[in-house]
Amino acid sequence: MAATSEDTAIDVRDLRMRYGTNEVLSGVTFSARRGEVVVLLGPNGAGKTTTVEILEGFRGRSAGEVSVLGVDPTHGDEAWRARLGVVLQSWRDHGKWRVRELLRHLGAYYAPYSTERTRRPWDVDELVAAVGLSEHADAKIMRLSGGQRRRLDVAIGIVGCPEVLFLDEPTAGFDPHARREFHDLVHRLADEDTTILLTTHDLDEAEKLADRIIVLAGGRIIADGSADELSRRMSTDAEVRWTRDGERFVHATQDATAFVRDLLVRHDSGISDLEVRRASLEETYMKLVQRVESGLGDEEAVRAFLRETANQEVTR
Ligand code: ADP
Repeated sequence: MAATSEDTAIDVRDLRMRYGTNEVLSGVTFSARRGEVVVLLGPNGAGKTTTVEILEGFRGRSAGEVSVLGVDPTHGDEAWRARLGVVLQSWRDHGKWRVRELLRHLGAYYAPYSTERTRRPWDVDELVAAVGLSEHADAKIMRLSGGQRRRLDVAIGIVGCPEVLFLDEPTAGFDPHARREFHDLVHRLADEDTTILLTTHDLDEAEKLADRIIVLAGGRIIADGSADELSRRMSTDAEVRWTRDGERFVHATQDATAFVRDLLVRHDSGISDLEVRRASLEETYMKLVQRVESGLGDEEAVRAFLRETANQEVTR
């Protein structure tokens, strides 16, 4: 395959995966730059976990080219693996270990892979603080709450200071406070040039975290762009709301600016609570996925989507 540039952390071309006769991925193409946060969205069974596991090197593929940090994951060695972070589900078998102790133990495996550019492992106390577990650093793992255990999972995933981090539903089981802290941590990691690929069902989370959102459905990418781009492309109409003489009005229009200008000319002083709103990511996403699930064939759904979206590239 073409040499990947220094700046490309993940490169996937025409990835296909079949389980028996069931084709789960039918030609997926995308790439991610260093420091980019890419969110994979899609309904259950869309192939998100399969895609992530192929990139992690935990699963083979049927066809296509895949490169993570310039290496084909099927041939990734220890040194390559040390540059990746994977957040797995809870470490239940390690219940008797204490938080700090386990992180120090696991971190030691990464020390030989420390480089000038990336020091490994993460300092244990700093790491424990970064995931909000300082108060529990000496607690046994079996004494942690569900949410604390998920924080520990995240700590284990990043103890080696990964250049690429894979997170499969990272905040499932987090309370709002833990979620906010986790989002701050993701931003911090991205600022330090970590590439992050995460799957989530939480559209609000996708909107907050993603530089780019990739929507998978029916085995292919049906949309790829920032949350804002996706909303703009999907919704030709914006919604204008206002209050006049104590009465609330709503109007859908393609040209909100012209409409508002006219409205203010006509009723200048009588208008209050003026709002202009585009479709939320959630509305956009539901619309997209419904198309694919509505009985339209995949091809037809993608074409229908394309008709509505200018400049949208869809990978076949
Ligand atoms: P997602 O993470 O988007 O929910 P998955 O990648 O887990 O989707 O699954 C995609 C499809 O592949 C599903 O239909 C699932 O049943 C199927 N699948 C996943 N793993 C296997 C497997 N090991 N053997 C057969 N089918 C599988």
